[in-house]
Amino acid sequence: MQRHDILSSLGIADAAAAGGDMPLRSPIDGSVLGSVQRDSPGNIEAKIGRSAEAFLTWRTLPAPTRGELVRRFGQVLRENKKALGHLVTLETGKLLSEGMGEVQEMIDICDFAVGLSRQLHGLTIASERPGHHMRETWHPLGPVGVISAFNFPVAVWAWNAALALVCGNSVVWKPSEKTLLCAFAVRALFERVAREFEGAPPGLLELLVGKTEAGTALVENPGIPLISATGSTRMGRAIAPRASARFARLLLELGGNAAMIVSPAADLDLAVRAITFSAVGTAGQRCTTLRRLLVHETLYDRLVERLSRVFETIRVGDPREAETLVGPLVDGDAFAAMQAALSQAREHGASVIGGERLFGPGGEAAFYVRPAIVPLREASGFTREEIFAPILYVIPYTGDVRHAIEIQNDVPQGLSSAIFTTDLREAELFLSAVGSDCGLANVNTGTSGAEIGGAFGGEKETGGGRESGSDSWRAYMRRQTQTVNYSPDLPLSQGVSFDI
Ligand code: NAD
Repeated sequence: MQRHDILSSLGIADAAAAGGDMPLRSPIDGSVLGSVQRDSPGNIEAKIGRSAEAFLTWRTLPAPTRGELVRRFGQVLRENKKALGHLVTLETGKLLSEGMGEVQEMIDICDFAVGLSRQLHGLTIASERPGHHMRETWHPLGPVGVISAFNFPVAVWAWNAALALVCGNSVVWKPSEKTLLCAFAVRALFERVAREFEGAPPGLLELLVGKTEAGTALVENPGIPLISATGSTRMGRAIAPRASARFARLLLELGGNAAMIVSPAADLDLAVRAITFSAVGTAGQRCTTLRRLLVHETLYDRLVERLSRVFETIRVGDPREAETLVGPLVDGDAFAAMQAALSQAREHGASVIGGERLFGPGGEAAFYVRPAIVPLREASGFTREEIFAPILYVIPYTGDVRHAIEIQNDVPQGLSSAIFTTDLREAELFLSAVGSDCGLANVNTGTSGAEIGGAFGGEKETGGGRESGSDSWRAYMRRQTQTVNYSPDLPLSQGVSFDI
């Protein structure tokens, strides 16, 4: 699909052509996709006010009715999957199949949320007092602030919004300044559904257009009880104290530094495929991207050699072409950060295989790279940092798998991890309380490519948040413990007597 067809079928051709102070470029060839106008502080305030107003109506609709709106939105996404998937690819540079996959993830979470809209269960609790009844009820929370990163410009919003909406909340979205057209498109599709939906108030989804200042305004606004923010740990460090200062809830999905252990009992063919997708897929720009490969010393040379051959020949180029497996980095800053990381490794005496710049469509205006392998003798200070690019550090471990687990956990981040082994004892140890300290732990499958059914998120500097499936919905509601006395007496708990 051509750019103009994509934008017009999504209903945002005019918005993209309106002109404004935020130009948007495609990482594929550096071409300008459009430009939009940044929101003034007054605009942001007004949008948040509209969202607060919308919440007052939306929370009164039965949850299954709210689910019906999400069901219809999922249907519109199905009908527009091709155009939106293409736009994700144009704006992020991911492969077309990944662009489509992101929209599929939106559809999946909508389906999940529709089912959930009839399952927002609380508990009934046995009361210690005669003639009393206790129960837990989950109520809508308020307008939910969603801050999202460039690398998942639509799916992460959907994880949050689909749940927030069925839970009875309105949504204020501050998308990445690098992927604003995706955000405009999602809003346009959502509006198509919301306009026709009886009972859906205007302002159910508000979009803030801006950079850090728009994020800060959202985080500091006292009308937003929950900030769900996805992005770098640096961003989390900046916003967490501001949100906490006003006691807002925080759901943080921050940086990762995934590791995979390859034990002597691994199926090596399977491991090579999983390592390659996890390390170079999305050009190494996933929070779950594999950065540290922990290989048993007996396999080390063989695996480095095999991976070097794969990385050398893997097709890097235009992500719209079917044979391409690695698209561009998002921009020149990402390229500079990658080169700085490789220089640092070299300064520490490491050799670097690959990592050089390649030229694709757009010539100098786009940033393609050969994925890099950095064989090391041991983990180092620089392997503890997240570099958002396809760099794979390969680190040997000796003896028992416990040594590998120790290296794996010895980083500040705690998002995704994996082990390749056919040894049941090793696998179960890895999944046990003394195993991986990450939010995601996989056996015989790679570190990236999570499904929406599970709770997604990580520990330590990754922020501790959980989004998407399982019981993540609870973060978007407030819990009320209710006690009803249906007796003519007034017994007090713990047998306290207080007769007047
Ligand atoms: P980023 O931190 O630069 O930006 C993310 C979002 O935060 C953007 O919308 C940005 O405008 C906003 N922002 C940045 N600084 C801010 C501040 N001080 N105040 C308010 N808002 C601010 O991240 P990015 O480059 O877009 O994305 C890559 C990062 O996101 C990586 O670190 C990656 O690991 C992380 N990420 C994490 C997850 C997860 O689920 N854990 C998912 C995707 C991406």
